[in-house]
Amino acid sequence: MVSLHSPRVETLSPYVPGEQAPGDGWIKLNTNENPYPPSPAVIKAIAAAAAEGLERYPDPQARHLRAAIAQYHGVPVEQVFAGNGSDEVLALAFCAFFQHGVQPLLMADVTYGFYEVYCRLFGIRCAQIAVDDGLRLDLDGFAALGAADAGIAGMVIANPNAPTGEFLPLERVQRLLEIQPRRLVLVDEAYIDFGGQSAIALVERYPNLLVVQTLSKSRALAGLRVGFAIGQAPLIDALERVKNSFNSYPLGHLAQAGAAAAFLDRAYFEETRQAVIGTRTLLCAHLRLMGFDVLPSQANFLFVRHPRFDARELAAGLKHAKILVRHFPRPRVEQFLRISVGSEDQAASLVRTLRAILQP
Ligand SMILES: *Cc1c(COP(=O)(O)O)cnc(C)c1O
Repeated sequence: MVSLHSPRVETLSPYVPGEQAPGDGWIKLNTNENPYPPSPAVIKAIAAAAAEGLERYPDPQARHLRAAIAQYHGVPVEQVFAGNGSDEVLALAFCAFFQHGVQPLLMADVTYGFYEVYCRLFGIRCAQIAVDDGLRLDLDGFAALGAADAGIAGMVIANPNAPTGEFLPLERVQRLLEIQPRRLVLVDEAYIDFGGQSAIALVERYPNLLVVQTLSKSRALAGLRVGFAIGQAPLIDALERVKNSFNSYPLGHLAQAGAAAAFLDRAYFEETRQAVIGTRTLLCAHLRLMGFDVLPSQANFLFVRHPRFDARELAAGLKHAKILVRHFPRPRVEQFLRISVGSEDQAASLVRTLRAILQP
């Protein structure tokens, strides 16, 4: 049989997202969604938008949304790019900034799995820098490779890192930015609102910094698919060129309206993210009492391992009790589970179920 697809298809290894709940009554702690619904102001804005204008194409430049993001973050609107979920924004950035022939893109060996997937899609070489025994980023490793004569394509980190939860303080992000000023450093801040400090504060000083954030986690809008990038105007122009070579209208009318409203309701945002942070502290304490090693996390998940129980078996035991958590069958982390923080009730159910599994 003659194959119809492009040769590149054979080389891809697509990202595998966490599974969907198979039915009702499940506690879903495997994809780091927000346990709370989005702000009521968002629902109202989407309903109002649905009442008018769906027969026309949406604003290709998402000006209203970008203005809301710019105002929230205190940057000019020329420094904001909006896209269809941060995964797509990341993909556009890989295409726009990291295709430099044989020069490799630097990333940690334990980080967000999509980075490797995009490298294959766009034919970008990648060089993985081993995290240390505590699964922390090795900046010296980045510096050593970044200074190589052969050159690099750039660097990408998740901050806080996924799936470890480690937050790299801004002075250390600055160190990364200074290793190779002629190459982009992409900082994926999907979890920044759960305790970290955003590198957006550094955009004015570093022309090689692009920060990407999402509304999927801290703003409870995973179902709406909105992400954005902030960087100096030439970087945003490059993203626009790639975007307009791929899809002029990646963000629908409803998504633009709902996302813009999310940035206006600061009180709701503050209340829900503080609730998640509070539950994270409680959950961490309970898990440690049960003997788990819990990595310090500034995200809405915990990365944990038990010295006496196999991670895959724990995940299976939880699934039997209708609780989903994430297990990555990858070197170095196969004995860990990544557990989304969830609501206080969900965390309590998780703790009860784990106790029963550990002490039958
Ligand atoms: C969840 C996540 C994203 C993707 O978010 P979307 O905006 O929903 O596409 C990106 N990066 C990391 C590290 C994530 O965990």
